[in-house]
Amino acid sequence: MTLTADLSGQVALVTGASRGIGEAVARLLAANGAKVACVARDAAKLAGAVEAIRQAGGEAEAFSCDVNDRESVEKVVDGIVEKWEKLDILVNNAGVTRDTLMPRMTDDEWDTVINTNLRGAFLFARAASRYMMRQRYGRIINMSSVSGLVGNPGQTNYSASKAGLIGMTRSLARELAGRNVTINAVAPGFIVTDMTRGIAAAAMDEAKKRIPAKRLGEPDDVAAAVLFLASRAAGYITGHTITVDGGMTA
Ligand code: NAP
Repeated sequence: MTLTADLSGQVALVTGASRGIGEAVARLLAANGAKVACVARDAAKLAGAVEAIRQAGGEAEAFSCDVNDRESVEKVVDGIVEKWEKLDILVNNAGVTRDTLMPRMTDDEWDTVINTNLRGAFLFARAASRYMMRQRYGRIINMSSVSGLVGNPGQTNYSASKAGLIGMTRSLARELAGRNVTINAVAPGFIVTDMTRGIAAAAMDEAKKRIPAKRLGEPDDVAAAVLFLASRAAGYITGHTITVDGGMTA
């Protein structure tokens, strides 16, 4: 079961591409013909993900960068355009959690999550949209979460960042629709990655009971939604959020 789209000649940037959902997205975009710039902090892990794409016949390049760092973000975007002369697709996927109940939450736990998940996406969207507006084409996909749609105890920082991404997606969609640049969000439910592997087995069993599809999601489930939104075929869809959650929020 594979979705295909013709992305040949297109250039994509995926943040958080070293593992989990981002790695699956980068792999699928490359398999469909895009040149993919892979971003994450851990250079060694990132090199492994890029190598796997190349081994499969795709084209990819590693850009080690903290999405919080404005100067590095702008350098990465400028570097991609210098190398490949354009930027068609941006997937703002990098994200972290620092779960704890609000009364115990430290300033650092709040700031780290908001700065990585929301400010990082802002920095990349701002830098990329300058080029996309000029080239009169672009696709931006922001990785939100069902936690941005419904509350989750212990995740006030994370929910705020993911709801913020949905608001940013809607407003930016209105700003850029006239330039043929679309911005959409994807809101995954429980997906099997390092992020959810840390959750206690009992809590995951509880979570599974709330999923009508009766299974956890896989990174490839999310990557398929991203590929669709990144394709030319999705050109009249903007400002939207697609849930990929097995019906959990239906
Ligand atoms: P993951 O396995 O923990 O991977 C996170 C990725 O983000 C890694 O590549 C990590 O690489 C990168 N990253 C984290 N902080 C970064 C920073 N400051 N700068 C650059 N890169 C950074 O997570 P995942 O489960 O694949 O999640 C991917 C996205 O989906 C996140 O936005 C997450 O919130 C969202 N999501 C996940 C689920 C789920 O159930 N897994 C559900 C809903 C939404 P480095 O650490 O090397 O930087």
